[in-house]
Amino acid sequence: MKLTFLGTAASEGYPDAFCGCANCERARALGGPNLRKRSAALLDGELLIDLGPDVMAATLMHGISLTAVRFCLLTHEHADHLDASNLTSRGPGSEVVGAPRLELVATAGALRTAAASLGRLPAAGLLDPGVQNRLNLTPQPIEPGQTVPVGPYRVTAIPACHYPEHLTPLLYAIERDGRALFYATDTGPLTEDAWTVLRDWGGAFHAVALDHTFGFRDRAAHHLNADQFVETVARLRGEGRLAAGCRVFAHHLGHHSNPDHDALVASAGERGYEVAFDSLTVAV
Ligand SMILES: [Zn+2]
Ligand SMILES: [Zn+2]
Ligand SMILES: [Zn+2]
Repeated sequence: MKLTFLGTAASEGYPDAFCGCANCERARALGGPNLRKRSAALLDGELLIDLGPDVMAATLMHGISLTAVRFCLLTHEHADHLDASNLTSRGPGSEVVGAPRLELVATAGALRTAAASLGRLPAAGLLDPGVQNRLNLTPQPIEPGQTVPVGPYRVTAIPACHYPEHLTPLLYAIERDGRALFYATDTGPLTEDAWTVLRDWGGAFHAVALDHTFGFRDRAAHHLNADQFVETVARLRGEGRLAAGCRVFAHHLGHHSNPDHDALVASAGERGYEVAFDSLTVAV
């Protein structure tokens, strides 16, 4: 699989346009990989992970086309991962002709949130066939623990530890042609339920994109700092979930807790992992 990071920042973006902290000022001065848009990723040009507010900007900035996208996985409905205007911009209502039907894999809650923000839809929202035709998409509700085929991919939903009192956030194990990616943002330390789903899944990942929101700050409950990141990777390795040569990337980086890209790459290197940046493309 070919994985492209479209955005690698936490919900505010990095730099946060409204923030004058030392990290944001340094990112503005340095530019390049220090400029991070809200998190999203693209697999093989045809599977989009999340529909955040910077997806359009990412494609413009990095020369990426989404015309071949047939599948979309939503991790959860927080606004930095779901901007429903991205759904209307690919439908016939926007005079887009010939776009493939989009299979939209998301929890029932995320589908409801998308429908609510589109407004003026029938009560069934995205589950209404007329709405689906208007938006040129087919929703595929998914729940934690489920494994479903998505075109040529096999997708397993793992429960994230991320404000579970408000929503049902998901991490995804995505497999194709014997290769496997663990897309794991947003989450705090994984719950035992998540470890059980991973054990039942039973595979080994060739790449991991893992939450690093709180970098060098205190331990967090709904995201990870660097120590929690390292502990999560160690347990993945201990449980046999990492294939030989697996590449592990820090992802979803908060401006408040992570230094500039080169400094982060240096400290991550000492800890045995890599740092994603916007437009980074890797073979999984
Ligand atoms: Zn987020
Ligand atoms: Zn800042
Ligand atoms: Zn979130």
